[in-house]
Amino acid sequence: MRPIGDGVCSICGERMVSPYAFTGELGGPRCGLCRRLEPTFAKASAYGSYEGGLRELVHLLKYEQVRPAAPVLGRMLREAIADLEPSFRAAEILVVPVPLYSRKLRQRGFNQSEVIVRAALKHAVQDRLTLDTAVLERRRETQTQTGLTRHQRRENIRGAFVVAKPQKVKGREILLVDDVFTTGTTVSECARILRRAGASKVFVATVARTLKADANRADLDAEERAGMTMAAAG
Ligand SMILES: [Zn+2]
Repeated sequence: MRPIGDGVCSICGERMVSPYAFTGELGGPRCGLCRRLEPTFAKASAYGSYEGGLRELVHLLKYEQVRPAAPVLGRMLREAIADLEPSFRAAEILVVPVPLYSRKLRQRGFNQSEVIVRAALKHAVQDRLTLDTAVLERRRETQTQTGLTRHQRRENIRGAFVVAKPQKVKGREILLVDDVFTTGTTVSECARILRRAGASKVFVATVARTLKADANRADLDAEERAGMTMAAAG
């Protein structure tokens, strides 16, 4: 398990593919995607790359219900949150785990994002972070995002989440938490509706992140490849 470290996009945390991407940027380097389309979240941070031991640990909790994995993942999430803390401006941050659809929640018995963030907050030195698991609701399950283009993924997920308590969100800085940041479609959609409900800013912390630079290039859709070429070109 290795932390992601330097050389990542200052907004979404994607690994930068070219040193040229670092030049001439104000407020930190941005990947091709974050340059072309302003993300709905202010900043995303992940503890480590979704591979090897970290991937196994997430799977243990999520698919094999090995609950002792939760405190370990919680400490990792805590580090991702610590990375975001200098960007927080509000005195109190509302922490919102990405919800599961009710049927999936019944099948699994727990929401892994909630279990991990509860473990993370257990060791919080200060009480700035307030957990609220009822702010967001998932209204339906989404089909697998695999093989879809970025546009198709956005369409696929649209309407899957609702802000159940907009009065709690208005004017607040929100920390959205999930186990894994894969394509970013889920957290982007959650951030979008939270912002629409009046949230001033949405930050995203995850334990792990899929890094495209590590992944099979064939998994990338043409749009993303074009974005990466743009970033590389400068
Ligand atoms: Zn980015």
